[in-house]
Amino acid sequence: MRNLSATELLTVWEKTYSQLPMQQAIDVLVAAFPEYTAEQIMQLSIGQRDALLLLLRERLFGTQLNSVVACPQCQQRVELAFNTSDIKTQPVLAVADDSGTPPMSLTLAGYEVNFRLPNSMDLLSIAICTGAGQARMQLLNRCIHSITGTAGNNVESVNLNGDFQLPESLQEAITKCMAEADPQANIQLALTCPDCSHAWSAAFDIVTYLMEEIHRWAKLMLREIHTLARAYGWCETDILAMTTVRRRAYLELLGLG
Ligand SMILES: [Zn+2]
Repeated sequence: MRNLSATELLTVWEKTYSQLPMQQAIDVLVAAFPEYTAEQIMQLSIGQRDALLLLLRERLFGTQLNSVVACPQCQQRVELAFNTSDIKTQPVLAVADDSGTPPMSLTLAGYEVNFRLPNSMDLLSIAICTGAGQARMQLLNRCIHSITGTAGNNVESVNLNGDFQLPESLQEAITKCMAEADPQANIQLALTCPDCSHAWSAAFDIVTYLMEEIHRWAKLMLREIHTLARAYGWCETDILAMTTVRRRAYLELLGLG
């Protein structure tokens, strides 16, 4: 992992401006983790990708996370403050691997299923799906290597892309198995409303969180460059090369700090 300069981060933000947050996250990771190729990052499980994003977030903006959610019962705004260590569930892979996520298997309802964990390529491929059911089926289609019927002594190979309908119970079991094997991909925050005491859990998505944070940082940075360039005539490159402390000190001198 390497430190991204302000110039580099701004360049990635600009390059990925109109992309989906998922695609933006891949490009930011490629810039920050030269020890991985883009393809290797795309093949990481979602939990492993999110573990890298948490590491990057700590390096860019620190370990403190803040968010605001609406209580589902009384609609009161609830402010959250937590630490990256509160939501880390799995370590980052020490070595990049070209073989993708490890194979997994499950035997249930008369079938033996061999599959792998979903990765970023899978999620990008289902981004255009309209319904949750269609998205899940397409995701399973991509991640399942083989299904074998085990009724009696007869073993029958089944093609998932044909007329075969994967039993609902099996779909749910595979999805549950995937979630348990890749816990960083599904972070739930336990919340309690201070007003009405309603308790619920809310999903935390580091992709959305960090991409929005980088967007806000870029907008603020450009505003500061604009102000300093207009006041002093300095060029963008020189202002970007300043530390935040020095840049803010000049803004204070302009009465804007
Ligand atoms: Zn409430």
